[in-house]
Amino acid sequence: MSIQQVTVLGATGSIGVSTLDVLARHPERYAVFALTADRKWQVLATQCLQHNPRYAVLNDMAAAVALAEELRRQGCKTEVLQGADALAQVASHADTHVVMAAIVGAAGLLPTLAAVKAGKKVLLANKEALVMAGGLFTRAVAEHGATLLPIDSEHNAIFQCLPNHRADYLVDGLQSSGVRKILLTASGGPFRNTPLADLKTVTPEQACAHPNWSMGQKISVDSATMLNKGLELIEACWLFNTRPEQVQVVIHPQSVIHSMVEYVDGSVLAQLGNPDMRTPIAHALAWPERIASGVASLDIIATARLDFSAPDYERFPCLHLAQQAAARAATAPTILNAANEVAVAAFLQRKIRFDQIAQVITSVLDKQDVIEPDSLELVIASDQKARELAHSVILAL
Ligand code: NDP
Repeated sequence: MSIQQVTVLGATGSIGVSTLDVLARHPERYAVFALTADRKWQVLATQCLQHNPRYAVLNDMAAAVALAEELRRQGCKTEVLQGADALAQVASHADTHVVMAAIVGAAGLLPTLAAVKAGKKVLLANKEALVMAGGLFTRAVAEHGATLLPIDSEHNAIFQCLPNHRADYLVDGLQSSGVRKILLTASGGPFRNTPLADLKTVTPEQACAHPNWSMGQKISVDSATMLNKGLELIEACWLFNTRPEQVQVVIHPQSVIHSMVEYVDGSVLAQLGNPDMRTPIAHALAWPERIASGVASLDIIATARLDFSAPDYERFPCLHLAQQAAARAATAPTILNAANEVAVAAFLQRKIRFDQIAQVITSVLDKQDVIEPDSLELVIASDQKARELAHSVILAL
């Protein structure tokens, strides 16, 4: 088997670091082609020295200059590029086979789409790209013969529990494959049992202290509001060609079952494992084969019990907003996603309270018209308008 050249978009983040850990375990199968980040050039420098990629890309100009200087000093031959076009360039480069899409937020859309349009094997962690432009994105996958594999642990679990003949359900819908529903599991985050009145005063540090997963700040806050589960519901509809009402969100605090698929005959298939993103990363990298990921065996005896409950919308209004946006479709998910990104950034900067994240999203969804997103330009314009509205809503709070 020839060595697969892998580009890691968002290499310095939580998923990026886990991806490099898995790749380093299999030098006979994978080499690192390109690594990218926004501005953390010191982390990227260390990664370049260890993995020796052909390219390193930074979004930020000053960071790119500093990285190039540091790599020259260390005698590393990696070529440093800068800016959004360079991200798309390495993602679609003729010499890369696999692209890990792990930039956080809407910034990931264009480079991920560039990889899709170049027909790459795309490992999708950047759920926001699919939420904001799902129709355009999935059409591009089909038109350009790309292979899209889910990294989100829930979607990876669902993928593992679905029939192997993806072409059937991608054309005719999940029901045609005998699937009754998807059970999308959620831990409930750090505030599952916090008294409702206390949610007004929780801090970014508390919101980012997820009980089971170690993740980047934005997805950690999304998990605390459960907006993340709403984004995942929308992501599942696009990935598996199904409708929102076929996806049931279930709180499962142990995060051992990563999601389930129920068939019409009553069978429910689940994928279990320790909460460690290296499992879905290794699965998607090697699919349809299996490789070691470094994840410890699941101790099912120590796990002892698995609990399930329904989500409480009073506690998690963001989940309800996302379900409504999923049902409304068109640009409603684009607007939801953009308003959420601005609100989460404001919360992390202590400009708004935790419970005001849902207020900001509600106001923006109320103020902005939903349209059919038939071009990328329209999607990007809707995203921009929602961001402007979100900033003005925050100023008025
Ligand atoms: P992190 O915040 O840890 O990392 C984000 C990465 O994106 C960093 O490399 C960052 O660079 C880079 N980045 C940020 N903004 C830009 C930009 N404007 N242009 C280019 N690069 C940028 O995020 P995570 O790894 O936690 O999450 C990445 C994606 O994966 C998200 O979409 C998330 O929802 C999804 N995901 C994450 C999971 C997890 O366990 N972490 C689980 C499932 C999905 P820099 O370091 O320089 O800021």
